[in-house]
Parts: sequence; C-alpha cells; structure tokens
Amino acid sequence: MTSRTSPTGIGWNFDNTYFDLPEAFYSTMTPNAVPSPEIKLFNANLARELGLNESELQTPEGIDVLAGNRMPEGAAAIAQAYAGHQFGTLNMLGDGRALLVGEQLAPDAKRYDLQLKGSGPTPYSRGGDGRAVLGPMIREYIVSEAMHGLGIPTSRSLAVLSTGESIRRVTSLEGGILARVASSHLRFGTFQYASFGRPKEELEQLVDYAWNRHFQEAEEGEIRSLSMFRELMERHASLVAKWQAVGFIHGVMNTDNMTISGETIDYGPCAFMDSYDPATVFSSIDTQGRYAYGNQPQITGWNLARLIESLLPLLHENQEQALEIAKGEMVRFAPLYEAYWLEEMRKKIGLFNEEESDMELIAELLSGMKAFGADFTNTFRALTLQENTEPWQSSGEFQAWQARWQARLDRQEQTEAQAVELMRQSNPAIIPRNHQVEHALEAAVNDGDYSVVNALNAALADPFAYSEQQLAYVMPDDKEHTYQTLCGT
Ligand code: AMP
Ligand code: MG
Repeated sequence: MTSRTSPTGIGWNFDNTYFDLPEAFYSTMTPNAVPSPEIKLFNANLARELGLNESELQTPEGIDVLAGNRMPEGAAAIAQAYAGHQFGTLNMLGDGRALLVGEQLAPDAKRYDLQLKGSGPTPYSRGGDGRAVLGPMIREYIVSEAMHGLGIPTSRSLAVLSTGESIRRVTSLEGGILARVASSHLRFGTFQYASFGRPKEELEQLVDYAWNRHFQEAEEGEIRSLSMFRELMERHASLVAKWQAVGFIHGVMNTDNMTISGETIDYGPCAFMDSYDPATVFSSIDTQGRYAYGNQPQITGWNLARLIESLLPLLHENQEQALEIAKGEMVRFAPLYEAYWLEEMRKKIGLFNEEESDMELIAELLSGMKAFGADFTNTFRALTLQENTEPWQSSGEFQAWQARWQARLDRQEQTEAQAVELMRQSNPAIIPRNHQVEHALEAAVNDGDYSVVNALNAALADPFAYSEQQLAYVMPDDKEHTYQTLCGT
C-alpha cells in the first residue's frame, strides 16, 4: 500500500488498496501519452471535495496527470479485470480504455477512485484503440453530474480533456478523456470474473475486499457473501426505482456496468425519456429493446441473479443447496423494487402516508400519460406548480383522476402546502433533455464554444430549484421520437 501527498501541492492523497487483491484482478500500466491535452470542462467543486487544489490541478503538471501522460507519485496506474454479460452473453472484458490513477482519500474521510476513461490501450482492449471521442465524454460529464444533482447515486465527472489526437470511428473525430470519480469501480462483472475458472479463495478475497470498502455499515450475518448480496439488492432496487422516477434510461445495463457500490456508472447511450412510454429505447444498438425504460427493473433483477450465481461457491458447500439459497433471495427482488418505486412515486404526487389504493392511483396517472403521449417530467412539474401546461390535462380522463387525487390528498394529515413542498423536492423542474444535450455538444465539439455546455450544467446542478434560468430547458423537442444515441463512443 502506498499513501503519499505530492510535494507539488495538488493534494494527491492516494492509498491504493486494489493491490491487496490477487494480481489476476488487474494489470499495471505505464502512461500512454497524448500529444496536446487541454482541459475543456472542469469541476472545481468536485476537485475541492476530493481535497485537490483546483488551480494546481489545472497547471501543465495537473493536466498531464488528468490526460494520463504522467502518473503522480503514489499513483496505482492499473487497468482492472472483469467479465460481464453484454446483452445477455458472458464475455471476458476488463478496462479496455480506462486507467485507474489511484484511490484518493478525501477530506470527508471517504475513498474515491480517480479513473481516466479514454486513456489508451490496455491488455484488455481486445483490438479496440483504447481511446474515447470528445463528444461522448462531454456527454457523460453532463449526464452524470445531472444525476448527481437529481440526488441519484452516481459516478462523478472531474474533468474532460481534449487530447489533440484524431480518433478513427466511422469518420475521424477529436479524441477526449474523461477523468471520473467513483466510490469504486468494482462491478457485478468483477465477481463474475472471480467466479468463473478462478480459485474459490480469490472469490472470497474479493468479497472481503468489497465488504471492507462498501459494506462496513451493513448488517453482517453468518455468510458474508450473502450479507453483501442482500445489501446490494437493496441498493440496486432503490437505484433503479430512482431512475424510473426521473425517466432515466441507462441504455446498456450489462453486468459489467452495474456497480458494487450501488452507484450509476458507464454513461454511454443513456438518455432521459420525454413522452411517457415504457417501451422507450434510445440506443441504436439495443434493437430488441432489452434495456427499454419499462424493462430496467426486471433487468436489474436479472443482473442480480447473475451476481448471486457468481457467489454460489461461497453460499454453501453443497451447490444444490447454494442454488436454493440463491433462489430464496431472488424472489424478494420484485416486491422490494415495488416498495422502493412506490416510495418514489408517492412523493411525486405529494403523498406522505400509505394507502392500499395508491398503486392504482399512480398506475391510472401513468396510463393516462401514455395514452396522451404526455411528457413525463413536465406532467409532474405541472402537478407540482398546479399549472395546466400539458394538453391532456384538459381531458375528462385527467380531470377524473385529479378528483381522485385531490380526495386522496385530503385524506392525509399534511396540508396542501406541505404536499406541494414534497413534490417540489421530488419532481425536477428540468432534466438533461436530449436535444439540449445535443445542442451543447455540437457547440462544444464543432465550434469550440463551451458556454452552452457550461450554462446547461449550471442549470442542471440543482434541478429542484425551479428557477427562472431553468425555464429555457423545460420544453421537450418535437423530434424526440427520432432521437437515437450511439454506442460508438
Ligand atoms: P462499455 O460498453 O463502455 O461498457 O464497454 C464494454 C467493454 O469494451 C469494456 O471492456 C471497455 O473497456 C471496452 N471498450 C469500449 N470501447 C473501447 C475502445 N475504444 N478500446 C478498447 N476497449 C474498449
Ligand atoms: Mg462498461
């Protein structure tokens, strides 16, 4: 283990515990230099939260680290090994274009991975170039920071750099690097990697490592791997309920993109839904709609099943009994998710207490929204502001629903004002609309104008502000149905 602070005063305070794992879990890396790195987006607040000096970090010395040109003293410089089910098929993966700089111990006494995405080839690149395109890295910055603003557990974005390199995709594009921060990069796929064809002791070591890193406060039963799994089921049921509540579509919920921390990670073809429709898919490679909005909870369950499968050797000596234990755990997922989802949805319509018929009330609202193609965010926004902005609010269906809703509000102790306040805290005034994100990316990448991205990020920093400045970001694009996100990042 190493723990040093650089004499430069940037504030590096690395303590790299990943080296405690068996060597098969990572590959040490030497820097892959890029010709002329430049900072394009910089998250000064996050730098400070990490205990880093924001000005020093933006000097040539700091830029060299963020670009992966030079590793600071005490850095880990590794690529991590993992596997993953990609669209249902298990593959050996690993960081093919990412480098873990190190684990930064921050002033809040928490440990954060600093990872560079797009930092060059690694032993896990499988023929890929190890690089990333600038536009998609800016996109990940915008959306991950927006998720943070929405109060949803997520990896964060510290900076985006251009590299001065051309990246060959379908055409030639400008290269980019994202410096991202997460409470770790352990994935469901890390456990799958440890489970298939590796000694059981390594799997045990990985569980202990994950436990120490993420589950110190969780309840520990007799079987640690089972306790970890139970806590993970809670975290992911809660996480996907939060995604559903804001209309976030991850787009590529492969098991390598699901974290052990319970944070959202790997923003590729993700996008927010405008009109409410459970079948909504934006990713051009998701031709079957496997990761459609409405499928996300079920896919979380499927991914958790793959995770517990990888833990079977630790659940019981007898594998048949281990499988019985696993099945017994998995049946809990659907009701658990439903409880988290109801909790989110009740808040969205201002309900403090629980009534049996709430599910029906919410389902009726959603089915009306679907029938009228109502905008998801703006419907809850209109309910919050007690405005009549959505066309379907003039319909008889909506008015009948509203009467039932009003009666339900009247049956709780809290006042109308308290209900409205709860809704304000639960229903974002804005989300990163697809056309706004595209517009910001075009200005940045085509014209080198970052003012549009910066203004968008500023508006999204507190999506519950309901500020004047946010009004410009409220309207959906009328061309939403044709919007597609690409995975070729
Ligand atoms: P993702 O779809 O981003 O989760 O990536 C799936 C796998 O492909 C991971 O192992 C990535 O590291 C790898 N990968 C994605 N893009 C590249 C690239 N340009 N070069 C090398 N590996 C890549
Ligand atoms: Mg990934």
